[in-house]
Amino acid sequence: MPSRDPSPEGEQRNKTRILIVEDEETIRDFVRLGLEYEGFEVETAGDGQQALEQVRRFGPDLVVLDLMLPGMDGLEVCREIRRRAALPIIMLTARGEVDDRVAGLEAGADDYLPKPFKFKELLARIRAVLRRAGLDQGRLLRVGPLTLDTQTRQVTRNGRTVDLTPREFDLLEHLMRHPRWVLTREQLLDRIWGMDYVGDANVVEVHISALRAKLGDADRQLIRTVRGVGYMLSG
Ligand code: CA
Repeated sequence: MPSRDPSPEGEQRNKTRILIVEDEETIRDFVRLGLEYEGFEVETAGDGQQALEQVRRFGPDLVVLDLMLPGMDGLEVCREIRRRAALPIIMLTARGEVDDRVAGLEAGADDYLPKPFKFKELLARIRAVLRRAGLDQGRLLRVGPLTLDTQTRQVTRNGRTVDLTPREFDLLEHLMRHPRWVLTREQLLDRIWGMDYVGDANVVEVHISALRAKLGDADRQLIRTVRGVGYMLSG
């Protein structure tokens, strides 16, 4: 039974690979940039034929597949991929179209996401599907004295459990996925609270302060402030 091609010999495969199949260039590029920033290796395809070719050539760990494609539609592509390889598929469907969702799941998709969607929703679903498939290499994040379990949502510092609110946890997870990167307040606001967040403009600062207090980081050596720019987790 054909499955994905083995990687060329000697090739390092330490990043999770995602194939995006979408004919709308703006969505394709937006998702690609976001996923690359999150540390995934990304390839794209604009139609079904290209998608099947990329599944063979690139050997993705997961496929994000738009239902509405020119030529072969997403359902057909989904069935074709299923015939060739056992890899997770997340289907993008129109909002509220129950038939599309049912058809997508029947065609073998592991999950679906209605359009329009926020990047963080897609990212959360990708991580959940990868986790279920046992492919989430980033389940246990370790940076310096910190350990964060993305599945049990438990955080420890030097082995001692730290109780965080859901937002504080999300913020710390994001910092721990990008250690030694300077993350701007805008990036953090966008990723954790969403683009359409309206509310206290100091929400990032407030949560960083709370995190520091709970992590015993009074001297700000763990979460550093980069003046006028944002924050950086040292590690
Ligand atoms: Ca489309």
